[in-house]
Amino acid sequence: RALKELSITDEMTKLYNRRYFNEVFKKEFNRAKRENKSISFLMLDVDHFKLYNDVYGHQKGDNVLSKIGGVLNSFSKRAGDFAFRLGGEEFGIIFHENGAKQALKFANNLLKAVESLKIPHANNSASKFVTVSIGLVYKNIDKTTTVVTIYKEADDSLYEAKKSGRNRVVNC
Ligand code: GH3
Ligand code: MG
Ligand code: MG
Repeated sequence: RALKELSITDEMTKLYNRRYFNEVFKKEFNRAKRENKSISFLMLDVDHFKLYNDVYGHQKGDNVLSKIGGVLNSFSKRAGDFAFRLGGEEFGIIFHENGAKQALKFANNLLKAVESLKIPHANNSASKFVTVSIGLVYKNIDKTTTVVTIYKEADDSLYEAKKSGRNRVVNC
């Protein structure tokens, strides 16, 4: 059991790792499909993190990722919520909300919670502090929906969030 735990955990952030994401994402997708329920997935990426490392150093950058991990952890406490470090400075949450409005609210609260850590980031164009951009997908699964399309929609929305100024949620 301890070994299983180790194999699905990201060491730096203590969130679930990419490997486990692949497993859970499929499982939760199939469950939502079977039960005809919605699925919510958000992907987030730290804003101007390369510049953060350049100014403050890689070690401080690692600390930032740990702290963001702590925020994601506190935002995934309900049954059926899962938070992941997808790789590098990218994270994801699979969660359940009754309605698109609530899902958007959840994402915006998460966004604000990261900025509220008030970690100075002098070269961030979006804030004085460390911020993230979020791509959000909330949807009922139909015949054309697959895990691949959901992932791509979240990724495309994240790209839009970056392009339109960062430190924001874009909802597809
Ligand atoms: P954007 O706002 O467009 O996301 O800009 P960005 O600089 O965050 O994006 P980019 O993809 O160019 O750079 C990501 C940076 O994240 C580069 C890499 O060094 C840093 N990074 C990735 N993983 C880690 C890590 O584990 N620790 C630290 N300290 N930095 C990391
Ligand atoms: Mg990135
Ligand atoms: Mg980034």
